[in-house]
Amino acid sequence: MDEIRIENLEIYAGHGVFEDENRLGQPFFVDIILYTDTRAAGERDDLSLSTHYGEVSHLVNRFLKEHTYKLIETAAEKTAEQILFHFPLVQSLDLEIRKPKAPIGLPFGSVSVKIHRGWKKVYLGIGSNLGDKEAYMENAVSRLKADKKIRAVRTSDWIVTKPYGGVEQDDFLNGAISLQTLYSPSELLHLLQSVEKEAGRERKIHWGPRTLDLDILFYEDFISDEADLMVPHPDMQNREFVLRPLDQLCPYYQHPLLHKTVRQMLKELEEKHR
Ligand code: ATP
Ligand code: CA
Ligand code: CA
Repeated sequence: MDEIRIENLEIYAGHGVFEDENRLGQPFFVDIILYTDTRAAGERDDLSLSTHYGEVSHLVNRFLKEHTYKLIETAAEKTAEQILFHFPLVQSLDLEIRKPKAPIGLPFGSVSVKIHRGWKKVYLGIGSNLGDKEAYMENAVSRLKADKKIRAVRTSDWIVTKPYGGVEQDDFLNGAISLQTLYSPSELLHLLQSVEKEAGRERKIHWGPRTLDLDILFYEDFISDEADLMVPHPDMQNREFVLRPLDQLCPYYQHPLLHKTVRQMLKELEEKHR
């Protein structure tokens, strides 16, 4: 990715744990690297195709002056979020806030917090086999679309499938969703669980009937084998009802552990069931 850099942006603001710091203020220095594609703007010499570093600088200045946080961790977190909300061409960024006059009581150069944040590509599986299935699924999609930390939501067709896992129950409606998000994997899981809960989901029988099921299939190349968050979803390669809708969204997306594309996994599964 190309980079647009802002160095040593000086902002007088009141962030700190001590009341004196909030009242009197002190200088903060901000370094920002915006990761974005500058090609189109560069080729056409057109600022409207790029991200205006002046506007970013003024936004950061305004934001850090108008808010007062105890921690520069929080100041960095919230500022990064503001930039990502307001400048959609920025895919991710590095942001460092330095505080050279921090009240440490020892001679030192500077203290700082540096973070990397950005929009992450995610694929979800969605299913329902209880009540008004389509309504539960459409509601879930609207709920995701309305979230500020989620964008670029796309859905596959919803397909009707036979239940999986041997429990006697109604047919499923299944689909896949792609999106970009600022949530971490565990934050996203919590959000999905609260959307399931709003849909009246009760956890009774494993693989039993449910109003709404939302699973994280892929989260970029992130890999996790914690029991409460397995990513990529450990059973996706064995489920046609996951792979078939996913294939509509991202046939060539590669599984980061199996190193097979969605299309390949689907073909192999179809072969096996022939
Ligand atoms: P399966 O995961 O085999 O499709 P399920 O969707 O019916 O089964 P649930 O009852 O919905 O299973 O979820 C059980 C637990 O799975 C949840 O508490 C959640 O923490 C955990 N979990 C682990 N990995 C994931 C993931 N990638 N997406 C969603 N939940 C996950
Ligand atoms: Ca599931
Ligand atoms: Ca689930």
